[in-house]
Amino acid sequence: MANTLKDRVALVTGSTDGIGLASARALAAEGCSVMLNGFGEADALAALCSELSAAYGVEVAHSPADLREEAAASGLVGEAVARFGRVDILVNNAGTQHKGLVEDHPPQRWREVMALNLDAAFHTIRTALPGMRARGWGRIVNVASVYGLAGGVERSSYVASKHGLVGLTKAVALETATTPITCNAVCPGDVSTRIFYRNAKLLAEREQITRAEAQQRIAAASMPSGRVVAPEQVGAFVAFLCSEAAGEIRGAALPMDGAWLAR
Ligand code: NAD
Repeated sequence: MANTLKDRVALVTGSTDGIGLASARALAAEGCSVMLNGFGEADALAALCSELSAAYGVEVAHSPADLREEAAASGLVGEAVARFGRVDILVNNAGTQHKGLVEDHPPQRWREVMALNLDAAFHTIRTALPGMRARGWGRIVNVASVYGLAGGVERSSYVASKHGLVGLTKAVALETATTPITCNAVCPGDVSTRIFYRNAKLLAEREQITRAEAQQRIAAASMPSGRVVAPEQVGAFVAFLCSEAAGEIRGAALPMDGAWLAR
């Protein structure tokens, strides 16, 4: 099948690090112009844009929009359109979580988790979709979690927001089902982002074990595979969902979880 991603415009939220950056990189590698979003030092972000642009021969820009703010989330698609003329691919990836029992959960943190993990996706989708419909093509990928499909302790807002994101994915997929626009969710288990390596380092120091042993222990605690998922694996899957080959995958919540949900 033809490489339909060449010269597409992708907006990836929360893409200055972790899964979002890996997704942006995978889409840039397929020839997409990319609007990055997220936090970081101005110099480091400028260097990141230049690096991606040079590596893949595509245009790359960055927006610092804080997606907890409704106006910023609504405005982000407009920023991308102002820079690149359109948004063909929208990856809603920015997310946060709060650990603790539900009765101890600060209501303000609940609102922040919902605002970033769920409301922001609503705002980017509702602002990006009219352009996709007008041009007759689009891809929306929401980065949910295994916690979008199963419960978990001491993370009530995360579980609720990710279940909400999976629900939003299905609703949007049905509203676009007869069009060349698809909407799907990816549901990773534990992924080896920066926090995984930080936690492994702390465990290794505490237990006087090697970092490799600590990483293995953390992975085995939740992943039946005994391995965590690499951000690059999620990025490659996101890019696949944006391909023409994936054009009839619609409204799916797809685990990448080392068989976590198979138990
Ligand atoms: P990360 O912490 O490595 O990166 C988060 C990115 O989001 C950064 O670019 C950061 O600057 C940006 N960001 C944070 N707050 C933001 C805000 N208010 N507005 C805009 N951007 C903001 O995150 P990650 O671990 O790669 O997670 C990415 C997504 O994947 C999240 O939705 C998370 O819930 C989901 N997820 C992660 C894992 C995991 O194990 N890491 C597993 C399953 C799902």
